[in-house]
Order: sequence, then structure tokens, then C-alpha cells
Amino acid sequence: MNVFSHPEFDNHEHVSFFCDPKTGLKAIVAVHNTSRGPALGGCRMFPYATDEEALRDVLRLSRGMTYKSALANLDLGGGKSVIIGDPRKHKTDDLLEAMGRFVEQLNGLYIAAEDSGTSVEDLKVMGRCTKHVAGISSHIGFDGKPSNGDPSPATAYGTFVGLQAAVKHKLGRSDLEGLKVAVQGIGHVGYRLARHLHEAGAKLWVYDIHQEQMDRAVEEFGATPVGGDEILSLPVDVVAPCALGAVLNDQSIANLKATVVAGAANNQLEHPHHDEALMKRGILYTPDFVINAGGIIDVFHERTDHDADKVRAHVESIGDTLEEIFTRSDRDGRPTGAIANELAEERFEHIPASKEQHAHRFAKAG
Ligand code: NAD
Repeated sequence: MNVFSHPEFDNHEHVSFFCDPKTGLKAIVAVHNTSRGPALGGCRMFPYATDEEALRDVLRLSRGMTYKSALANLDLGGGKSVIIGDPRKHKTDDLLEAMGRFVEQLNGLYIAAEDSGTSVEDLKVMGRCTKHVAGISSHIGFDGKPSNGDPSPATAYGTFVGLQAAVKHKLGRSDLEGLKVAVQGIGHVGYRLARHLHEAGAKLWVYDIHQEQMDRAVEEFGATPVGGDEILSLPVDVVAPCALGAVLNDQSIANLKATVVAGAANNQLEHPHHDEALMKRGILYTPDFVINAGGIIDVFHERTDHDADKVRAHVESIGDTLEEIFTRSDRDGRPTGAIANELAEERFEHIPASKEQHAHRFAKAG
């Protein structure tokens, strides 16, 4: 297994491999870039078939966090960790504590948050052995409601704000009354996004592999349930992927009738060239790592200042960042994803000296 010459390596600053035979823990922590601050990113637990698969995932996700945090103007770098194992079979308190001890050894270089396969409760268990975990403290959320640290409400709100910005740019309308939106995946984020859209007067079409998730949206928001093979090709204004990655591929792009794609799912493009394919079809693609940054913004503030109004304003700035990306894309005739990458690189490659102090403050908080 190659590391330095791995296709996804991309000049990572640091990669650690951890093994604890007593608890069965095998984990990798990848820190891509810390020029804006310590690397904050989720700790994913997944039954990877091979070590190579786990390494590939952690490197790709860690790099993505550098870009996401830079575009959200956070004093954070990018990192991620993966635990190799089935969360339903292999997750024990002993294993999570061992992971906490490993994170502690990195002395604040990496800060773990929840991700797929880990919960707020699991992070609290890790937190018995390290102070470098985030997203675990009960507080008043950006919406004035009590929060247990779950970032999904802020992610959903940021996605709603980003969708509004995209609709304004592409369709020239500020209100969402009667706007037709297809939501794929009615989970933590998709359900809350659907509620925001319903409250703003949009008409919804929904699909989820779990019938009960769809039923909720039908009952509460008057949504129309549809099949999995039609959700992305409906004659609607906006498609919002909120389930899984790689849904924007040759076939789905050819069949899209919506002119805006704006959803929270990570890694929506199957390949980087699908960015351009969307532009060529006249579809405005809202880069996923920009529109879904509400959660990391929320976690950052939870660790620093806890001010609900500040968090809300920061999440709403996702709309301004997107408008800047859309405008540059129109001006240069280049796809939105490529522009977003460049804008992020501008922000993490040229750091004002004062950032170092912010980074230090963040690492000590929590
Ligand atoms: P979740 O697991 O709560 O919800 C996902 C939903 O999608 C589930 O209801 C699941 O049944 C459904 N689903 C799975 N496969 C599907 C398919 N093929 N078609 C339709 N529905 C399907 O996850 P979530 O927290 O809501 O996250 C949704 C997406 O947003 C993920 O891609 C996640 O990585 C991304 N994201 C989430 C957050 C957050 O704060 N939760 C932050 C950034 C990005």
C-alpha cells in the first residue's frame, strides 16, 4: 500500500496509523492542511474491505475538509479519521476510549467530530480520554433551540440558504412560493431542508429508501412520494441530493430536467468532469462542500463563542460565498466546482499572520 505516492495523497501534512489489539481498534488519522488552524473533521466508522480502501477514504475526506473550512472562512484546517470496523458489531466503549487516547497523542493537531458510524454519544466516550473532540456539548443552537451538538440542523439551514441563492441567481426569483423541488434522502438533513422549503411555500417531491422517512414528509409537508429511479429526472425547478455521493453521473445528468442542483450530500459528482457536464447542459450546480458547510460552522462556534446570532449569520454567509462562485463562473465561462476549488485554495494558501493566533485559541478551547 503506497502512502506518499497514493493518488489521493495530495501533500498531506500528516498521516497516522493506530492499532490497539486489546480493543480491536485499527484507525487512520489524516491531516491534510493546517495553515488556517487545527484540522477538524469527522471520525467515520465503516467496515472497509481493505486497508487501502480505508486509506483512500480518509485522504479524500480530509482534503475535502480543508476546502470546506477555507470556503466557510473558518480558522480551521482539514482532517478526518476512519475506524476500520462495523459500527453495529465492533463499536465498544473500550474501542472508542482507545481512539480517544490516540487522538490525544496528536496534541490538538486533529480534532474529531461525529460522522457516519459515530454519534454524539460515541464522541463523548472518546472525550473521556481527550479534550480534542467537538460537537458534543449541549447549548442553545443557531435557531434558538436547545442543541445536543448534532450539526444537522445547521447543515440543513445552510443548504436552504444556499438553495435560495442558487434559485435567485439562475431563476431570478427571491421567493420560493410554488417552487418545485425534488429531495432525494429524507434523513437528518433532508427532512429539515424539506421543512424549511415547505415553510417557504415550495412544492415537494421526495424519495427515500426507507418508506417511513418518506411518509413523514408526505404527512407533514404535503410532499408527493416518487420512486428512486425518477427523483432526479422529474420536471422540477431544483433537485436536492441529500442521501449519498456520486449521484451526478453521465446518466443522471443527461436525464435532469431541473436547472438547479442544490443539496447537502457529500461528493455528489461521480467524477470531476461532471462539473463541466452540468454547466454544458445549462444546469447551475451548487458545489456540495460549500452548501453543506453549516454543520462545521456550528461545531466551530460551539467550541469558541457559543453565540447563536453569530452562528446564524455565519451560516447565512454560505449564500454570499455561493453568489461569488456563481458570478465568477458566469464571468469566466468555467464550472462552479472548479471555481469553488480555486477560491478555497486562495484562502488556505495565503494566510494572514493573525490566523496563527486564532488557530491557537481554537485548539485550546473546548
Ligand atoms: P442520514 O443518514 O440521516 O440521511 C440519509 C437518508 O438518505 C436516510 O434517510 C437514508 O434512508 C436515505 N438514503 C440512503 N440511500 C438512499 C438512496 N439511494 N436514495 C434515497 N435515499 C437514500 O444522513 P444525513 O446526516 O441527513 O446526511 C445526508 C447527506 O448529507 C450525506 O451525504 C452526508 O454526508 C451529508 N452531510 C451531512 C451533514 C450533517 O450535518 N448531517 C453535514 C455535511 C454533509
